[in-house]
Amino acid sequence: ELLINQIAAGEVVERPAAALKEILENSVDAGATKINVQLQQGGVKQIRVADDGFGIAKDELQLALTRHSTSKISTLEDLHQITSLGFRGEALASIAAISRLSLASRQVEQIHAWQILVEGKSVSQPMPSSLAQGTTLDVNDLYFNIPARRKFLKSEATEFAHCDETFKRIALSQSGIEFVLQHNGKARRHLRAGDPAQRIASVLGEEFKQAAAWIDEQSAEMHLHGMVALPAYARSSRDTQYFFVNHRFVNDKLISHALREAYRDVLHLGRHPAFVLFLDIHPGSVDVNVHPTKTEVRFREPRALHQFIFHAINKALASPHK
Ligand code: ADP
Ligand code: MG
Repeated sequence: ELLINQIAAGEVVERPAAALKEILENSVDAGATKINVQLQQGGVKQIRVADDGFGIAKDELQLALTRHSTSKISTLEDLHQITSLGFRGEALASIAAISRLSLASRQVEQIHAWQILVEGKSVSQPMPSSLAQGTTLDVNDLYFNIPARRKFLKSEATEFAHCDETFKRIALSQSGIEFVLQHNGKARRHLRAGDPAQRIASVLGEEFKQAAAWIDEQSAEMHLHGMVALPAYARSSRDTQYFFVNHRFVNDKLISHALREAYRDVLHLGRHPAFVLFLDIHPGSVDVNVHPTKTEVRFREPRALHQFIFHAINKALASPHK
């Protein structure tokens, strides 16, 4: 079981940023209004995430670290109607298999928090702990028991950059949540709760917001909203391309193609569009269960979607209104 977890972990948790993504998604799924992230040494030494979500009951703490244990889906039918970010029930088990982990949580009705410690095969019994509310997960010494994987890690600065990118993606898609990010004890980002436009400005800069056109397109099946940069703001890299489907960051060929086509006649050679777009679509019309790291999706009606995105962007670029 531990070996299986370690193998699975290598796939799900290829670097600290992958662990951070899973942990942050759990905090979002728990209804947190504030999420605090503290990293040490690019996340390798420590990833600590504290949220004020609904917490985990004392009796469920050990279960939360068991493979294929999820509180989020109970039937196959649910699998087609996924609205929470997590659903596989393997992330925490995978992370626990390759780190020294502490999980503390307090549900509102409990008089105090409970905490468990995990290292390799040994999982402690829940012990009393102090925590005002929500859940605090402490992941220490990632890959301490798989040196081969540790060798593949890049410099601390690079691993932090990946963590920061993961943090930005989640923060962009959850503007109603306050986020804090610290690295090696230094404050790096503090994003107050607000609307999507405010969040875009605080993550990507006021400059991006000023240079972007608003999108707000509604059809019977879907809603597309967000900001696309006008051609003058096009980038030499693809680093400012954020597309979210039902709050989930995706990197999808069909969507990229629709966007490229919409910008085709207005971009100079070697330039790339910059955008932050949110697509809300009926969960039954999209299959997110394609890949463990979940950045790919499959649409039930790809052509209609392509058309919809293409026309929405085209229209906004032709007559940008702010
Ligand atoms: P999944 O998110 O796919 O259900 P995970 O392994 O990520 O699986 O988490 C396992 C379970 O642990 C979740 O289903 C949830 O019940 C619980 N859990 C994890 N993190 C939190 C959190 N921050 N707040 C509340 N519950 C949590
Ligand atoms: Mg999860």
